[in-house]
Amino acid sequence: MHGREHAPFEPPQVQRWRQRPHFGKVHLQHLLGFARRQSTLEKLTRFYVQLDNRTEKYKGAGQKAALNHRFRNETDHEWEIFADVQDVDSKAQVMVQAADVLAGCVAWVWNRQYANERVDPERIAFADLIANRANLPLSPDAQEDGIKRRHFLNFGYPTLAFQETKGFTIWKMSFRLAEEREAKAQRRKIYARYGGDATLSAVGREYQIGAVCFECDRSLPDILSNNIGHRTLRQKYRPTCRECHRKGYLLFRERQTVPS
Ligand SMILES: [Zn+2]
Repeated sequence: MHGREHAPFEPPQVQRWRQRPHFGKVHLQHLLGFARRQSTLEKLTRFYVQLDNRTEKYKGAGQKAALNHRFRNETDHEWEIFADVQDVDSKAQVMVQAADVLAGCVAWVWNRQYANERVDPERIAFADLIANRANLPLSPDAQEDGIKRRHFLNFGYPTLAFQETKGFTIWKMSFRLAEEREAKAQRRKIYARYGGDATLSAVGREYQIGAVCFECDRSLPDILSNNIGHRTLRQKYRPTCRECHRKGYLLFRERQTVPS
């Protein structure tokens, strides 16, 4: 966010983030996500999964059983949607390597590494080539930011569900979705009470309005110091994070009433 470095303002959302569950099973969640999308279709696909054999902890056969079990429980389908889960050595598998290259390119854009002045021009040319071939539809956010179709900067935005094309989709994996939803719900509730014509300063008399970026954890204790008090609630103001340039969320903390 704009303003101070690491402010002491720690909303409850941020504290809860520190106690987040272990990341170990993220790939299972991700694979289940693919399967869930299929569950409403008439004809189900079967997935053949190749996992890079990096950890001893998860073995293909066990993962296959766990995934199919979860899918059946969640959807009541008897279909064994995960046909095969193999442990492979990525160095020997050309498809896994290709997937790594594509994912690496997306990560390079997503994390804004292209902005580094020491980036190799050949890397940029390669990113251009991938973006050109992928030819992803522009999301409304990308359009608003002036991104051109077939430009690699388009990889910095998640693909919207209705724009998904065969084979190349970028998902934003949000580990803090619950907190985002909570923040949205809080804002909706407070704004509904004030009405669209009210200004942020009006809300600021009752609430301390802070902001947080759930992407990189930057937070700001008091956004009204940024000269935005005149904005109406209808404008749905959200500060842009100075670190990762994504939109932050407003957080409202009721002011303690001072006894007169
Ligand atoms: Zn950020």
